[in-house]
Order: sequence, then structure tokens, then C-alpha cells
Amino acid sequence: MKKPHNNHNFIEYIMTLLDLPENRDTDIADLFANDGQASQGSGSLSAAYEMIQFMDEMPGGFLIYHADGEEQIIYANKALLRIFGCDSLRDFRDLTGNSFKGIVHEEDLATVEASIHEQIATSQYDLDYVEYRITRKDGTVRWVEDYGHFIHSASMGDIFYVFISDTTEEKEIINQEHLRRLEVIEGLSINYESILFADLDENKITPYRLSSRTRRQFDYKYKACGFLWYISDYVNTWVYPEDRERVLNATSPEYIKKKLSENKTYYINYRIIMEGRIQFLHLRIVNVGSPNHISQIVMGYRRIDEEILREVEQKQILEDALSSANLAIVAKNAFLSNMSHDMRTPLNAIFGYTALAKNHIEDQQLTNRYLDEIDLSSHQLLDLIDKVLEIAWTESNDIRIAELECNLIDIMQEIYDSLYPLTVDKNISFSLSHIELKHPDVYSDPDRLRQLLQYLINNAIKYTKNDGKVDLSIQELDDHSNDHAVYQFVVQDTGIGISEEFLDHIFEPFEREKNTTLSNIHGAGLGLTIAKSIANMMGGDIKVSSAVDEGSTFTVTLRLRIQANPVPHTVNTARSGSYEDLTGRRILLVEDNEINLEIETEILKSTGFLIETAEDGSIAVEMIKNSKPGYYSLVLMDIQMPIMNGYQAASAIRRLEDPDLAHIPIIALSANAFESDKQMSYESGMDEHLTKPIDIPMLLETISRILLC
Ligand code: ADP
Repeated sequence: MKKPHNNHNFIEYIMTLLDLPENRDTDIADLFANDGQASQGSGSLSAAYEMIQFMDEMPGGFLIYHADGEEQIIYANKALLRIFGCDSLRDFRDLTGNSFKGIVHEEDLATVEASIHEQIATSQYDLDYVEYRITRKDGTVRWVEDYGHFIHSASMGDIFYVFISDTTEEKEIINQEHLRRLEVIEGLSINYESILFADLDENKITPYRLSSRTRRQFDYKYKACGFLWYISDYVNTWVYPEDRERVLNATSPEYIKKKLSENKTYYINYRIIMEGRIQFLHLRIVNVGSPNHISQIVMGYRRIDEEILREVEQKQILEDALSSANLAIVAKNAFLSNMSHDMRTPLNAIFGYTALAKNHIEDQQLTNRYLDEIDLSSHQLLDLIDKVLEIAWTESNDIRIAELECNLIDIMQEIYDSLYPLTVDKNISFSLSHIELKHPDVYSDPDRLRQLLQYLINNAIKYTKNDGKVDLSIQELDDHSNDHAVYQFVVQDTGIGISEEFLDHIFEPFEREKNTTLSNIHGAGLGLTIAKSIANMMGGDIKVSSAVDEGSTFTVTLRLRIQANPVPHTVNTARSGSYEDLTGRRILLVEDNEINLEIETEILKSTGFLIETAEDGSIAVEMIKNSKPGYYSLVLMDIQMPIMNGYQAASAIRRLEDPDLAHIPIIALSANAFESDKQMSYESGMDEHLTKPIDIPMLLETISRILLC
């Protein structure tokens, strides 16, 4: 270490003073006495002495030591002694072996000395800066900062004087901050298998974390390479050929800088080939340097095979949903076109036969036949509307299954009786049997049960050719437990049968094996859907077996609660009641539609009733209120009317002061045919709810049941 010679006279005085032993005060006095004549020198000596006192009191640590040989310590000020936890210079010399080497922690010494050496050799001003650990007298380890200056003196040899400050706390704060940042990076990058730091300007790349696969690769190839080489080699080795250009573009320094100047981060998904298989990767690039000058970035890689797979599955689910929605649309369109056809057929007949009847009005026999045809077509139309309503009902939540006392034999007999006429025309042999019916008296919903079986028997008759056979049977299965029993209702025919393929779809709405045009059999493909829904709602099921041209068997299985003490039942004879008994009774007909009013008035008058009319609910309430009790026997109430509807009118009547007037029987007669409509009629105080178009026998039967009971 050859340095230019300086004239350090003043420093030499200091050094002389410092070279004195520890209890230097007496020696200093001698020194001053000996030097008393040298006026030039004594001024410098006292200035040096003051300088030492000044150095002693400096707030930061200050050290002077010989740069050569053993790097012996010449001077340490009080602040430095405090840094080392020493009480005196002697202590300090003991602790450090009186050498700079003894100041530096042994693990840092080699690096520190090399660094000082290098810095002084290259520094214009002979300055150096180093950081290292020290060990205090109490054994604790601290971090210090060391700013040194090298001086060459001819008389004293080379020396260093050094400012030292304790930076342990700051270092800890910095370390903690660094750790916190690493934790944040670690946390955010948890999903990334490999993370690399890159400096675009310096064309450097350093791994932060690597997957085991990439680590092998990195060690072997990329360790000593630059960013550009790494990217080009990586893309050409791993990336799927079709994606290479895209990845190269998205990872070029120009593109990265452009993208990251707009956003702090961006990503690219691409495919790689790994172990002969395509894998999907996600590369995210984040700016971790200055936002104004983009150069330092982090690149995170992760595999996204599962996400892509999930995306593909999701897409498949959506496609399936779309195709089933399309199928539903197709089915509905087919249904509407069927419906349109099925509605137009009877309507056409009604229009046609009405025109014919008008033209042949004088020919009573012919007119009667035309009227019969009109009647049949009207019923077909009504049947279609009923089924559509029924479907809407089963699809809604408006479903209540009653638990009423009923007798299964009676129900079967009623169904048999009502459908028997249909079999006569086709010469179909129709039988009813019950097998081991030990408990015919049960709790069930007789209307729903009737409806369900009617759909099946109707079909059996409809799809069986002339001279065929339809058998209806009910059987109680052995396995009844406690107060319940299992019943099987079987409808068997020798009809056209059902193909195996169609059996899979038979209960789906709007499905028919052959449409009306092909089969010439009227239908909408809704009956079995409704029947199945009813069976399910009653807690049961329907099974079907069939063979084409041989026939079909529909089996309904229901578990019903049996009546513990059934009352001997009597067949309801209301149907056979005579309406003559009602002749002369006065009915208040509440109806706003003129056509309905005319038809209903004529029908009721022709059966002997006296009819008065009201055009809306409020008029009806006034008429009842102002009448004498008994003047009106019954009210037939429409529901949808202006001013006051049927529900409001019925409840207003029920609230009349005169109890006789308030209790007059009221029957709703409405086009509102939903179950909820019926329920509202009952809740507003009406006795019955009948639907339009009017079923005249049903209306008369209901009126007579109410008035005669
Ligand atoms: P619709 O009879 O109004 O067409 P359904 O839902 O009652 O509607 O029946 C659906 C289809 O099932 C019918 O169109 C017919 O193809 C077939 N089907 C139902 N019952 C029978 C049966 N007993 N014999 C043959 N085919 C039947």
C-alpha cells in the first residue's frame, strides 16, 4: 500500500500524545515541560491535546490504528468504547487484542479486509466503507458501519482513522422489512411453481424459487445465461410449437416494458410439451422496480391443467344445458304445432257443422247429427285445454293432495261406469276385478286417484283396436304394515302396444309415438305426464310394460292409510236425484258476459228454475241484501267481473247482518280452473266451485245436492 507522503506534523503530535500510556495526564505534563522552549511546537502540541479531548467527546465511535503489521490500535474514543461495552481503553485493548483484526467478527474479517484493501487501492481519496459484525465485551454481537481513511506518514508509518457507528437496530429494521417483503412475495406466489427475477436492462435472470423440474433445467443450462438467451431457449425447447411466436412476443423486453407501463402485471397462458404430453401453463409477469423505469421484473409460472379442464367441463355443461334448452324449445314447438293442429281440428268441425246445421235447420234429424258432432268436438277442445291447465298445475307449487275417507271399490266402479260407454262403440271387452281387497276403505284423494286412473284407462281404450280387451284390476299386496297398505291398480290392454325406444320417453311431456295426423288418434302427449305427476304426488309410482301389436300394461302402486273403523258406505245417489223437485226455485245468476248470461239463463230456465241476473258482484250483494230471506234459493257466481269480483261479493254476502241471507248457498261458476282458484272460492265462503264451460248435468247435480240436502 504505497501512498504519497504527506506532512502530518500536527497529526504526529497527536500520535505522540496517543502513544503515551493510559494514565497519560502526568506524561502529558512532562511532555509540555520538555517541549516548553519549542514555541512553534508547543502551540501545536496543545492544539493536538485539545484535539484529543475533542475526539474523546465525539458522539460517534472513532478509532485510529496502524495500517500495517498487526494493525495495532492507536486510539479509540469514548463513544467507541461504549459501542463495545468497555469501561476503559485498557478493557478495549484486552477485548480486541489491541488490533483492528480483533475488532471485526472472525466470520467477517476476511471479506472486510479484502474490501478495505480493494477500496483504498481504487479510491481517489483513500476512503473506504465497510459493514461488519463486532462482539461486545458482554458477548453480544452487533452490526457496525465503518467509514475509514488511510494516511501515509513517513515518521509513523501508515495509519487508518475510522468512524464507526452501531447500526444493529437499523439493520434489524431493514432485515425485518426485507423478510416481510419476502413473505409477501412468498404468500402471493404460493400458487406459482417457479419464480424468477429478471433485470431487462442488465439482461440478467436469477431464480427465486424453482420447481424441482425447472431446478434441474436451470442448474444445467440457464445458471450463467442472460435473460434473452434464457427466454429464447426456454420457448424453443418447451413451448408447444403453435404457441411459440405468441410467447416470444409476450416476453420480449420491449413488449414487457410496454405492458408493464400500462399495468403493474400481466399474464399469458400457453401450452408446453412435457413428458410427451401437452400441459397448460400460466406465466405472470410483475413489475417490481420503479414504475417510471421498467427493468426489474418477477416472472411466476404455474400449471393450469386443472383449471383448463374445469373450464372445458364448464363449457360442456353449458353446451349440454343449451342443447337441452334447445330440445325443450323443439319439444314445445312440436307441442304447439300439435296443439294448434289438435285445436283446429275440433274447431274446424264446430265451424263446419254449425254452418251445415244452419243450412239444414228444417231437417231435424240432420241438424241433430250436426249438433252431436259439435258437442263431441267441443269436448275434445275442452279436454285439450284441461290437460294444458293440468300440466301447468303439476309444474307449479300449487299442489295439495287431500286425505279423505274413500272406498276403493266405489272409486273403481265409478271410473268403470263412466268409461264403459267408450268401449261399447269399439266393441271392446272391458272388465273390472278386485283381488284380495281386504281393506277397501282408505284415506286418499279420490278426485286425483280417479283422474290418474282415467288417463290410463282412456289411453287403453283409445289405443286398442275394435274388438280388443281392456282389463282394470285392483289388488292389495300382502306387505301392509301398521295402518297402511300397498295397492296395485293395473290397466291392461290388447292394443297397438308401445315400441321399446318410445317406452323411455313415454312420461315426458308433449311426447307421442305418432302424432294425431299419423295415428288418426286425438291426443296431445300430456296425459301420461300428468298421470305420473299425480302418482308421484300421492307418494306412488307408475310402471309400464308393453309389446308392439300385443298390448300394454300400466301398473300404479300406491301406499294408502287404511281406515280403522270404516262406516258402511252408501253409494252417492245425488246423480240420480230428480230436478223436478227444484222447479220454481229462484236463482240469482251473477255474470257480466252477455253470451254466458244468455246461455246459462236459458239452460236453467228450461229445467224449471226462476232466474234473476246481476252484472257484477256489487249489484248481486245489493239484491241479496234487499231481498226477503228465502226469496232466492241460491247464487251462481262468476269470478272475474268488473267493479266487484265473485270472491269479494261472496264474502260480502257472508258478512250480511241477516243470518238467513248471509247463509244463502253460493256456487262459483268460473273459467278460473286452477286448484288455487277453487281454494280461493272456498275461502271467500262459497259452497262449490264449478268450471266453465258448463257441464250441465254436473251443474244440476251440484245444485240439487246443495238444495235438497
Ligand atoms: P296422448 O294419448 O294424448 O297422446 P299420453 O301422454 O296419454 O298422451 O300418451 C303418450 C303416448 O304414449 C301416446 O301418444 C301413445 O303413443 C303412447 N301410449 C299411451 N298409452 C298407450 C297404450 N295404452 N297403448 C299404446 N300406446 C300408448
